[in-house]
Amino acid sequence: MPDPEITAEIAGIRVIDNHCHPEQVLVEGETDTQWDGFPQDAYQTPRVVNIPANIRPKNAKVLAAWRALWGISDETWSEDAVKRALAAKRQIKKDKGDAYPAWVLDRAGVEIALSNRVTMQRGLSAPRFRWVTYADMFMFPLSTAKLQLANSSYAKFYGSLEQKAKELRSGKASPQTLAMWLKTYVVAAIEQRKQEGAVALKFTAAYYRPLDFAPVPEQEAASIYLRCIREGGGPNLEDYKKLQDYIFFEVGKTAARLHLPVHIHTGPGSGAQYSLSGANPFLLEKAINGLPDTDFVLLHGGWPFSFQATALLMKSNVFIDFSGQEFMLSPRDLADVLRYWMDYMPEKVLFGTDAFPNPSLPQAAWEEFEWLNAQNARQALAIALTTMRDDGQITTGRAKELARMVLRENAAKLHRL
Ligand SMILES: [Zn+2]
Repeated sequence: MPDPEITAEIAGIRVIDNHCHPEQVLVEGETDTQWDGFPQDAYQTPRVVNIPANIRPKNAKVLAAWRALWGISDETWSEDAVKRALAAKRQIKKDKGDAYPAWVLDRAGVEIALSNRVTMQRGLSAPRFRWVTYADMFMFPLSTAKLQLANSSYAKFYGSLEQKAKELRSGKASPQTLAMWLKTYVVAAIEQRKQEGAVALKFTAAYYRPLDFAPVPEQEAASIYLRCIREGGGPNLEDYKKLQDYIFFEVGKTAARLHLPVHIHTGPGSGAQYSLSGANPFLLEKAINGLPDTDFVLLHGGWPFSFQATALLMKSNVFIDFSGQEFMLSPRDLADVLRYWMDYMPEKVLFGTDAFPNPSLPQAAWEEFEWLNAQNARQALAIALTTMRDDGQITTGRAKELARMVLRENAAKLHRL
């Protein structure tokens, strides 16, 4: 049983969610297209298929979320309860208006949500919501036609990133040199987004390539780029990888200069085509070693490589969050992961929920996930800290301190909030 004193301390902490995708305030008939970096049809299976047992709509925990958020007190699932939950949600949305997303955070005990979105929109304003901006499109300055042919299951990801890179150029043709692409568009965009309030960059690279970014000489990347501009058409798979690797390192340097941590998706991902072996955080080692001044946050803790990922925390520029593990694992299993990490580097462990909108299942959407994952995280942390205390590794006082660090202070310090 978790210690009551530790549990009470944890319950009172206003947490910082290191990674989530909150939904903007919408008017009737409007949909939020900005919460995910990719169009939903890029994933070969819809994102809600094969959802873990912990968050299936009939799960008792979803009922608990309804109780806390919508005042639905049913103990068992029924169609009628779903109807009442949705009706109550609609009414509260209407009543709260632009203050609705912050109201959801209040219910979940979340003070600040680091919001990974294409753009921040209605109801998602600072100081409660801080922007984590997508950086993938910077690595796609040229045509992806050859990539799409070589790897057709990733075609929609490539196409969407090529399109976003084009939007960055306001529809203009690719510049004549790689240096111009970087200076005029990439570095300028990162600087501007920082001005607009971004607190971190996010890469979702594991969705379209392995995470094995490696250093590439400038001359080599520049000549690949130049050859494509001269001959027309884009690079092949091998050359595009080198180009992406080079740009990734340049983005990393810019991020370091601007004090923007780099968030990277690690571990499992949606869609039948997703490559788990390509999302092993160990693949990031060359980037981590080659960019010692850039802070990396391993989102989702690299699960199922969570325990191995612990060793990467030995590097001074690596941090880890457990966003999403709250619904992949039970609190007891998550407690094992958290204990393993906290035993080693407690100042580098960050709480996150990965809560996201769920248009096809509105009764288990970002509001419910935000609340539920924050609850599960608190429960897991209480279990982990109690076992550490009971084993004589830490005092109750230190357990409380660790709880504040993991739930709040580590993220605040890293992102300079
Ligand atoms: Zn996410």
